[in-house]
Amino acid sequence: NYEPELHWNDLKKNSDQMVPVIVQDYRNDDVLMLAYMNEEAFNATISSGKMTYWSRSRNELWVKGLTSGHFQYVKSLTADCDFDTILAKVSQIGAACHTGNRTCFFNNIIQKEYVEKNPIKALDSLYDSIKDFRDNASDRVENELLLDGGTDEILQNVGEKFINILLSYKTIDQTDFKIEMSDFLYKIMILMVEKGVTWEDIIKEMSPK
Ligand code: AMP
Ligand code: ZN
Ligand code: ZN
Repeated sequence: NYEPELHWNDLKKNSDQMVPVIVQDYRNDDVLMLAYMNEEAFNATISSGKMTYWSRSRNELWVKGLTSGHFQYVKSLTADCDFDTILAKVSQIGAACHTGNRTCFFNNIIQKEYVEKNPIKALDSLYDSIKDFRDNASDRVENELLLDGGTDEILQNVGEKFINILLSYKTIDQTDFKIEMSDFLYKIMILMVEKGVTWEDIIKEMSPK
């Protein structure tokens, strides 16, 4: 029910009279998939608010999610500089990929090592690995702190950490403060995992309403 600022006629089509669409998760900018729209799909997407493509393999209009339930609700549609590609930001239900993977892009061709620089993504992946570690803890002794019985120990540990930071705050240098804070945040995250509170929940709570 938003009036589009550009129409199908404003876009440049490929030789099949279609426009490729790059689909991105509006929450974290992950690239989810690439698909194509024809005029019918483009107009259906705008009027329904659900991503609708033209399936080139099935040769039919394709409301993404109609059989799987994995709908994509439109957050924004943007054309690129020369109007031949659409970028869609969507709220993805479930998985974008028919394999059940959240994103279609998981087949590595080249993978260089890099450090995740986006703070929220880095914290989120650390959160996931704590959760993973806890859910699959096999070595009870080694993972003691992460197991249910370890909660009291974590609480004591977090408390001590926090008090240490406060007590040393006036004299501690930036490097040591960084190390102490990292350790503190890591342990706080263990508590978050146990309570089932995610970083997204926290950010939402802290954002202006
Ligand atoms: P869906 O739209 O998710 O209900 O899926 C309908 C059909 O499209 C199924 O046959 C899927 O295998 C296929 N499909 C779903 N998602 C994708 C995708 N990301 N890329 C290619 N085919 C897909
Ligand atoms: Zn272009
Ligand atoms: Zn896929």
